Amino acid sequence: MKLPNKILKEIKKKCQKYWWNEKEEKKYNEIEKDLFKLLIFTILSQNTSSTNTWKAFNNLEEKVGVSPYILANADIKDIENAIKSGGLYKIKAKRIKNVAKEIIARWNGSLEWIRKSKEDEIREQLLSIKGIGRKTADVIISSIYGYKNAFVVDTHMFRIAKRLGIVEEKAGYEEVSKALANLFDWENDSNAVSYFWLLAKYICRAKNPRCKECPLKNYCKFGRDK
Ligand code: SF4
Repeated sequence: MKLPNKILKEIKKKCQKYWWNEKEEKKYNEIEKDLFKLLIFTILSQNTSSTNTWKAFNNLEEKVGVSPYILANADIKDIENAIKSGGLYKIKAKRIKNVAKEIIARWNGSLEWIRKSKEDEIREQLLSIKGIGRKTADVIISSIYGYKNAFVVDTHMFRIAKRLGIVEEKAGYEEVSKALANLFDWENDSNAVSYFWLLAKYICRAKNPRCKECPLKNYCKFGRDK
């Protein structure tokens, strides 16, 4: 199933109000230019809200700094204290320090090789680092090659894919990623996936999904059965 342009436009109209504020969008665009920062931002976003992710990232940048050498040499307690607002801070601090050390050991502290590499190679290399999972690797790949080649699946995307009925209840990351990528013809608005994600988060919310007002209700198994 491909989502028609008309529906994508409706999703955009419906979710425009949830779009990132100007300051966050500008800052995120800056983060995306530095692959190491993007990696750390994504690790911080694991299992937490975007508000808490921003708080943790900004604090880490201000109190410790976000570069491989700074984080590899930083006291783990300083990292933990800086990212406390992000939840699971002890686990994330350990991951961040380990990732920084690995990047120094393997690539002299630079991730620029990623820009010249193929998706599969990037995925394989990143996944071999403890603390980097499929979603984190795909965020990095999609920042270079787009969502078509690495459709990032988070908790909101898992939920909406299952409710739409495009995957089985037990489907894993790979299957959900492919099924969601197939909804788009990739010729339309480059922000279509971002608006779809906003719909998954704010309309197709975990509790009390707003099916009656959802542009996808005629395409959705859960919405139709309700
Ligand atoms: S119709 Fe309901 S369950 Fe289906 S995508 Fe929309 S909000 Fe989610």
